[in-house]
Amino acid sequence: MSVVERTAPIRYPAALNFIGGSFSDPAGEHLDVTNPADGSVISRVPLSTESEVDKAAAAAKKAFPAWAATPIKERVQVFFRYKTLLEKNIDELAALVTEENGKIDSEARAEVLKSAELTEFACSLPQLTAGEILEVSRGVECRVERFPVGVVASITPFNFPNMVPNWTLPNALALGNCMILKPSELVPLSAVRIAELLREAGLPDGVFNIVNGGQQTVEAICDHPDIEAITFVGSTRVAKIVYRRGTASLKRVLALGGAKNHLFVMPDAEPEMTSSNVVASMSGCAGQRCMAASVMMAVGKSDHIIERMVEVIRGMVPGTHIGPVISREAKQRIEKYIGEAERAGAKILVDGRNYVVPGRENGYYIGPTLIDHVTPDMRIAQEEVFGPVMVIIRAKNIDEALEVQSKSRYGNAASVFTESGGIARHVMETASAGMVGVNVGVPVPREPFGFGGWNESKFGAGDITGRSSIDFWTKPKKMTTKWNREAGTNWMS
Ligand code: NAD
Repeated sequence: MSVVERTAPIRYPAALNFIGGSFSDPAGEHLDVTNPADGSVISRVPLSTESEVDKAAAAAKKAFPAWAATPIKERVQVFFRYKTLLEKNIDELAALVTEENGKIDSEARAEVLKSAELTEFACSLPQLTAGEILEVSRGVECRVERFPVGVVASITPFNFPNMVPNWTLPNALALGNCMILKPSELVPLSAVRIAELLREAGLPDGVFNIVNGGQQTVEAICDHPDIEAITFVGSTRVAKIVYRRGTASLKRVLALGGAKNHLFVMPDAEPEMTSSNVVASMSGCAGQRCMAASVMMAVGKSDHIIERMVEVIRGMVPGTHIGPVISREAKQRIEKYIGEAERAGAKILVDGRNYVVPGRENGYYIGPTLIDHVTPDMRIAQEEVFGPVMVIIRAKNIDEALEVQSKSRYGNAASVFTESGGIARHVMETASAGMVGVNVGVPVPREPFGFGGWNESKFGAGDITGRSSIDFWTKPKKMTTKWNREAGTNWMS
């Protein structure tokens, strides 16, 4: 089902702050929330100031002692119920994602299902976080127990309004922390429903809070003395700002940034699967995924695959198979990149500029765009475009192709399409990226494997999901005890 075919009416919640278990609309500046499919205003969001961050931090701090003292096996009961609620409400949650972000229905549903999978992982944390214990000397025992960090914050981007908040909140909360979520001001509505569902699942007041806003709100979070840890997901430009400012005020920070993902297509790749997976990777979610492929390294004689990709793209209808990009500014920025590449001598094989969906003339649509004969020095080959645009760079052999990828400042994902195990292994070992794939267009690690890139795609140690997140959301305490009454039997006096 596409954006235009959905018939059920949708409830637009006001994008309210959620502090200490109550919703509120702070006085002050607000921003319109628009539906990118037709440009209509569907809600408005407060741009909260320091005082709202202060209130949320106080509510979280108040809730923390009781929540931290609740055994983890009890805490995860909330998330068993929350997972069921995500599944039960998937129609409405997916529709809300479609309305505020523009994704087509199947993509929005996949996002909510991924949230359920992330919550399922959080439900397994009691099994994964049992401590370590060892008798290190006669009668002397060392053990490690994990303690929650305290009040933490999660700052999220526009492209996954339901899933990215769920990258962090189930694990952080199940591990005993209290959280302040700062959703993207472009898509604040899904977070409101998340708060309602967490409350319905029985989460105590103050354990989860939302403060809406933009730059000023984020800066207040970075500076707040009672917030101990921050995760950020968004562009590299802002990831650097948040990482620097948060660590300067001595917080634990993990900041995920932008991407430029390369797909290596070998001449021996299975043509049908490769062409459809490559196109799906660049065009899914209108190319607005940090895992979207945006550069195809065409190695050797791969024209037959490119020709098939052109056919696949020509069969796609914007508004049905591909949603709009997030805003008018995003559409203009993406179309500018395409124009520049054309002027620099690249050949546009399929041009998605100026696409108009009948009946949705004010929507921010761009058709999937394929550009051949791009050279590595062009801006479009180096910068994150974040739209349904794929550039093709030709390479004589795999090492020449890998050399191009290694020069990218980013390092989120890379993948190779081939039938050769040797080439596949070589790419997996050599590509400078945190997530690599073989014959997979979007190599997202599923739970329990962690999500996180390399280079300027991530700042801070560890990954944001999976087992690695356990280290981020907890502090290990190392305990040594001696229950041996004999004196002088070992050096642990
Ligand atoms: P963005 O960086 O513009 O915004 C992200 C968050 O930062 C938002 O909550 C926003 O309010 C806040 N923000 C914006 N400007 C700020 C400033 N100057 N100071 C402090 N805070 C500020 O990102 P976006 O446009 O919402 O999302 C798209 C970007 O996110 C892309 O670059 C994409 O690659 C990236 N992304 C990365 C991952 C990943 O896992 N690496 C996942 C999803 C999205």
